[in-house]
Amino acid sequence: MADREIISFSDVTIGYGKTKILEELNFSVYENDFIGIVGPNGAGKSTLLKTLLGSLKPLRGVVKKESLIFGYVPQRDLVQPLLPYTVYDVVMMGRYSLLGLFNNPGKEDKRIVEESLDNAGICDLKNYHYSSLSGGQRQRTLIARALAVEPNILILDEPTNGMDTPSHYSLLALIERLHKEKQLTILLVSHLLSDVANYVQKILLMEKYFFQFGNISEILSEDNLRKTYSSEFSVSTYNGEFIITSKKR
Ligand code: ADP
Repeated sequence: MADREIISFSDVTIGYGKTKILEELNFSVYENDFIGIVGPNGAGKSTLLKTLLGSLKPLRGVVKKESLIFGYVPQRDLVQPLLPYTVYDVVMMGRYSLLGLFNNPGKEDKRIVEESLDNAGICDLKNYHYSSLSGGQRQRTLIARALAVEPNILILDEPTNGMDTPSHYSLLALIERLHKEKQLTILLVSHLLSDVANYVQKILLMEKYFFQFGNISEILSEDNLRKTYSSEFSVSTYNGEFIITSKKR
C-alpha cells in the first residue's frame, strides 16, 4: 500500500504579522512517519508547530491536513505542577479535552485512560500526585495524557530536556515503541542531533531563515551541518549508531 500523505506544506511562509520567520516551506508528512524537528533556540520550531496545529495562520501558502487528531506533549517545565492532581487526573484531562468540562467521563473514557497509562508504562503511578514525580515520570504522564485523546499523530516538544541519561534513553525507547507498535505518526522536536539521528526516519532541520527536509544521511552530513550552523561537526558511527558532536574550536 502506498504511503498516505496526511499533511502537506506548499510554499508556506510562517511568522507573526509582518515578521516572517521561515519562507518557502515545502514538505509532506506521511502516515506512520517519524520525523525529527531540529534546530537551535529561536529557529522557528514552535512557530512551525503552531502553524501545523492550526493556532497560527500561515502568512502565505497552503497547509493541507486530513482530519487528524493531534496528541500534543508540551515541554514539561511549562506544565503547572502545583495543583494537587494525581497522574490519573492529569491523564483524564486528555479525555475532558474531548468531552468538555461539564460532561462526566464514562466507562469508555476510563478504559482509554487505563490503556494510555499502560502504554506510557506508568500504571503503578496512577494514584501519585503529579507534583511528587521525577522529570521522566512527569514526561510519561504528559505522554499518557496525549495518548488519551487517541491521536493519529503525536507531537513531542523537547521531551528529554533536563533528564538524567537512563531516563533520557528509556523515554526515547518508549517513543520508538509507540511509533512501531501503535503505528503512530510522530513529530519529535529536539536540539540533540545524535538522538534524532538514531531514532527518527526523516529530519526537518531549521536555522534562522533556513530550512531543510530529508533523510538522516542526506541532512546530517558534516558538510551540511557546517554550512547550516557555521561551525565544525564530526559525524561518525559506532556499533551502528550515529555519534554527532560539535568539534572544539
Ligand atoms: P524555537 O521554538 O525554535 O525556539 P520560536 O518559533 O519560538 O523558535 O521563535 C522563532 C522566532 O519567532 C524568534 O525570533 C522569536 O523571537 C519569534 N517569535 C516567537 N513568538 C512570537 C510572537 N508571538 N510574535 C512575534 N515574534 C515571535
